[in-house]
Amino acid sequence: MRRSAGPREGVYLYGERGEKYLDFASGIAVNLLGHGHPVLTKAIQDQAATLMHVSNLYGSPQGEALAQRIVDLTFADTVFFTNSGAEAVECAIKTARRYHHAKGNAHKHDLITFSNAFHGRTMATISATNQEKLRDGFAPLLPGFKVVEFDNLEQALAAIDDNTAGFLLEPVQGEGGIRPASKEFIQGLRKVCDERDLMLVFDEVQCGVARTGTLYAYEQYGVEPDILASAKGIGGGFPMGACLATEKAASGMVIGTHGSTYGGNPLAMAAGQAVFDVVANDEFLGHVRQMGDRLRAALEQMIPNHDQLFDSVRGMGLMLGIKMKTDSRAFVNWLRGQGILAVAAGDNVMRVLPPLTIDERHIREFVEGLSEAASIYEVPEAA
Ligand SMILES: *Cc1c(COP(=O)(O)O)cnc(C)c1O
Repeated sequence: MRRSAGPREGVYLYGERGEKYLDFASGIAVNLLGHGHPVLTKAIQDQAATLMHVSNLYGSPQGEALAQRIVDLTFADTVFFTNSGAEAVECAIKTARRYHHAKGNAHKHDLITFSNAFHGRTMATISATNQEKLRDGFAPLLPGFKVVEFDNLEQALAAIDDNTAGFLLEPVQGEGGIRPASKEFIQGLRKVCDERDLMLVFDEVQCGVARTGTLYAYEQYGVEPDILASAKGIGGGFPMGACLATEKAASGMVIGTHGSTYGGNPLAMAAGQAVFDVVANDEFLGHVRQMGDRLRAALEQMIPNHDQLFDSVRGMGLMLGIKMKTDSRAFVNWLRGQGILAVAAGDNVMRVLPPLTIDERHIREFVEGLSEAASIYEVPEAA
C-alpha cells in the first residue's frame, strides 16, 4: 500500500486495518518530506549498504561535508552532530558555559530561559523549563537556569546578573503552544548579548529546517544567534541533531571537551544531506511559505463557522497552531478517529505540522475534513 509513496502520497498513513490518515502531524514536525520520500529513502539505502558507522575515531568525510554545507547556509562556523534534539540542546548549554569558562569567567554559568519552554527530557533540559509536568518527580534538578516570562524583554533584562551566561529560547515555541516571539523581544536580547558579552542560544529543534519558510526561523527576526540547536526535521525521520555555533561561541569547546559515539555517523549524515538536497533552495522554501499562507488563510476563513470550538490561528510558515476554546488534547485524540492527524500542545492549542511537501489539494482536504469533524464534535463533559 505504501509502495507508490511519492511526495504526494507520502502525506498519508495507513493503519493496520487499512484505514487512511491525512498526516498533518509529521511525527511531531519530523517527517518534513512526508513518508517514503524517494530521495531520502534512496540516500539511506545506499549509505546503509556502504558504511553505517565507524565512530569519530577516524574522522568522517560525510560529516565534514554536511557540516560544511550547514556552515555555508547559516550563521554558524562550526557544527557538532548529535542523535536527538535534547542532545543538541545539551551541547548548546555546555558550549555557552564553556565559552565563559575559557575566558576565565567560570562563574558565568546561568542561562536565562522562558516560561512554557520545551527543550527536551534530559536532566539539564527539564531543568531549563518551568513546566511542572516535565519536572515532577525528578528532583533535584540542575542549577544554573533562571526562568522568566516568554516574550517579556523587560523581565529578561532584569534577570541578568553577574552569573549570567546568556539566554536559551525557542524563537517559536512548539510544545508550549506555537508561540512566535516578537521581533522586538528577540532583537532586544541580541542587543544586550552584544553589549554584555552574553550567549544568545536558540533552540530551533522544532522550528528549524525550513518549517517556518526559511531554513532557520532566526532569519525572519533579522538577528543571528551565537549557538543553535537543530534536530527533528533535520534527518527527515532519521534520528539526528546538530549544535551550530560561531567560532567565537565555540571557542571553549576544544578537542576532548565533548563527544558522541553515534553523532555524525555516515548513515545519519546521508539522511541529513538528502533533506538539505530537497529543502535548502529558494524554490522549496518559497513553496513552504506559499503553502503556509494558504493553509493559514483557509483556517482563518473556516474558524468563524466553528467559533464554539476554535479561537484563532498563529505560527509561521507550516508551523501553525489553532488556539481552541476547549481541551485540544481531547479534540486531537478524537480527530484521529476521523482520519486526520494533528498534535496537541500547551495552552489548548492544536498543532498543525504537515509535511512541507504538501500541495493545495492536501490543504483543501485537511480544512474540509477539519470543518466537517468540528461540526459533529461533541465537547466532552468536564470531569
Ligand atoms: C522536540 C524538542 C526537543 C527535544 O528533542 P528530542 O529529539 O525529543 O530530544 C527540544 N527542543 C524543542 C524545541 C523540541 O521541540
